[in-house]
Amino acid sequence: MIGQLDSRNPEGYDNDIANAWTNHKFAMKLVNPNNKRKFDVIVVGSGLAGSSAAATLGELGYNVKLFTFHDSPRRAHSIAAQGGINGAKNYQNDGDSVHRLFYDTVKGGDFRSRESNVHRLAEVSVNIIDQATAQGVPFARDYGGLLANRSFGGAQVSRTFYARGQTGQQLLLGAYSALMRQVAAGTVEMFTRMEMLDLVVHDEAARGIVCRDLMSGEISAHSAHAVVLATGGYGNVYYLSTNAMMCNVTAAWRAHRKGAMFANPCYTQIHPTCIPSSDEFQSKLTLMSESLRNDGRIWVPDAFDESRAAGDIPEDQRDYYLERKYPAFGNLVPRDVASRNAKTVVDAGKGVGPLKNGVYLDFSDAISRDGKETIAAKYGNLFDMYANITGEDPYSTPMRIYPATHYTMGGLWVDYELMSNVPGLFVLGEANFSDHGANRLGASALMQGLADGYFVIPYTIGNYLADKLGQKPMDTRDAVFEQSMTAVDDQTKKWLSTQGTKSVDYYHRELGKLVWDYCGMERDKNGLEKALSEIPALRDEFHKNVRVLGSASTLNQSLEKAGRVADFFELAELKARDALEREESAGGHFRSEHQTEEGEAKRDDENFSHVAAWEWNGEGTAQTRHREELSFNYVKPSQRSYK
Ligand SMILES: Cc1cc2nc3c(=O)[nH]c(=O)nc-3n(C[C@H](O)[C@H](O)[C@H](O)COP(=O)(O)OP(=O)(O)OC[C@H]3O[C@@H](n4cnc5c(N)ncnc54)[C@H](O)[C@@H]3O)c2cc1C
Repeated sequence: MIGQLDSRNPEGYDNDIANAWTNHKFAMKLVNPNNKRKFDVIVVGSGLAGSSAAATLGELGYNVKLFTFHDSPRRAHSIAAQGGINGAKNYQNDGDSVHRLFYDTVKGGDFRSRESNVHRLAEVSVNIIDQATAQGVPFARDYGGLLANRSFGGAQVSRTFYARGQTGQQLLLGAYSALMRQVAAGTVEMFTRMEMLDLVVHDEAARGIVCRDLMSGEISAHSAHAVVLATGGYGNVYYLSTNAMMCNVTAAWRAHRKGAMFANPCYTQIHPTCIPSSDEFQSKLTLMSESLRNDGRIWVPDAFDESRAAGDIPEDQRDYYLERKYPAFGNLVPRDVASRNAKTVVDAGKGVGPLKNGVYLDFSDAISRDGKETIAAKYGNLFDMYANITGEDPYSTPMRIYPATHYTMGGLWVDYELMSNVPGLFVLGEANFSDHGANRLGASALMQGLADGYFVIPYTIGNYLADKLGQKPMDTRDAVFEQSMTAVDDQTKKWLSTQGTKSVDYYHRELGKLVWDYCGMERDKNGLEKALSEIPALRDEFHKNVRVLGSASTLNQSLEKAGRVADFFELAELKARDALEREESAGGHFRSEHQTEEGEAKRDDENFSHVAAWEWNGEGTAQTRHREELSFNYVKPSQRSYK
């Protein structure tokens, strides 16, 4: 195993968590301003995490090389984020504080995250809002001009800052402006349309990456003193998800194959408010933001197989099941709880819509109370999107929603400084496993990505680089880079020479069905064992029978996808193993064998209060499961209750 599975928690955090990050920052080594330009840093990924990191490191004076497979950083998946970003500003005076955001996030994650990381996240959340506002991000404001807030699931305070339903896009434009300023200043060099296909590790440290130019097919090597991965999540392993179609696990997985541990792959978030799929061949699902649960009421008809239109069903024949079961949080219970409850009522035969695969999200009360204009001002673009996709008018008919894969809490293992177990390899944003435990609360992914990029990595990378002054990055003509380039080239050619009969998409869809059926919203031992025999069989067939047309020297999207789907196959198997080994239910990981009498997730703190971090042992060999034990000094583990 390379490096160590040492969380490097800040000294004294168990006695004084409120000052742990401040003390840690003071204790870390610094690189003086004139020396920063002597260090090269590679950043892969230009979403919120990568753009904010590259802009900030450039501003500090490091030589940054930024890689993305998009034609512009503005196309990163972060642009899709709708509902908002949390910040413990307490502008509402409703009882919020850094400690409450910390508490809600640890509890929301079902006590499977690291307290030290989460506290730092809550602390810097307030700085993110200031930073974005200073950049000109047009957050919504209240009548007095202060920034407005709305509520998100798992919290009883309003702490979510938003820009209508386009918060991710506006934040990304802010980060992008900061980034382009550095490109113009010459501190950041941008490489677009370049896909990272390997991490180069030498003498037990990350030395660089190997990429393929998506336009010309050219394979090139790039070296640096440190590599920062900010390549997003792996939700598209399910094929159908709310993620952008290009999202994939390849960069993280290739780093895993080079020694970086992969943590908690079984933790996936299924978001409760997505538009239900309308046929077999759909390739993407659409999210309806969680913010809609502020004003929308979720219900199903009391009767099984109800055929009347929603408006014809009288009040006393409706079941507002979340309000009934969880009076304290009502429609704002966390995502895992809302999703599982939707599955329960649909499985019971109370689903609505042509395929009976949804529940209603109804705005009629809110519209009567606040008026159509007020609702349109808050959610107008989301309502338009829904109407365009379904052909139904959500102002007059309730929306239909159903859970879908949305976010991945698992990812590459990192320590408190966001460094993986491979020295010099840092991992930010959704690509790491760090802050959300077994369930992420809404509006906290944007917060984490920007915390990592703007406020954590600028300090921690210096701590790693400080004693490397005078060392040069490796020469990319070195054999270790050459070998990696050859391996990438061989694999690319292999896809084109297989000449099978079925498309990459066919195999991706079949894999997605297996993962959804056996390792989706609910898992059990039998299903997971089935997955572990069926996934490898389908993978073997994929390798023998996939057909990739075209050439390697021009833009070829099925060639790109073949490599990504191959990695999804390996990840899917690990995910099922991880889920099988975790004999408890926690957050988004619901094992039907482990539930309370009321059907809630039942943790086993005695045996599973740990992070599972998997070590790659080479092709065809089982991976080793390591444990990072978790301790809770501030938020004592309890059965989560939202009643
Ligand atoms: C529909 C939707 C709505 C959401 N709404 C919210 C919300 O309201 N609030 C919230 O907090 N969260 C929300 N989320 C979650 C949030 O958007 C994401 O978790 C977050 O934006 C991820 O940011 P990131 O920078 O880590 O990754 P991404 O934005 O996914 O960026 C990844 C980057 O890596 C690059 N990349 C990946 N692999 C490679 C490779 N091999 N080589 C080169 N480049 C590579 C890509 O080009 C891209 O630039 C939402 C998610 C979805 C799907």
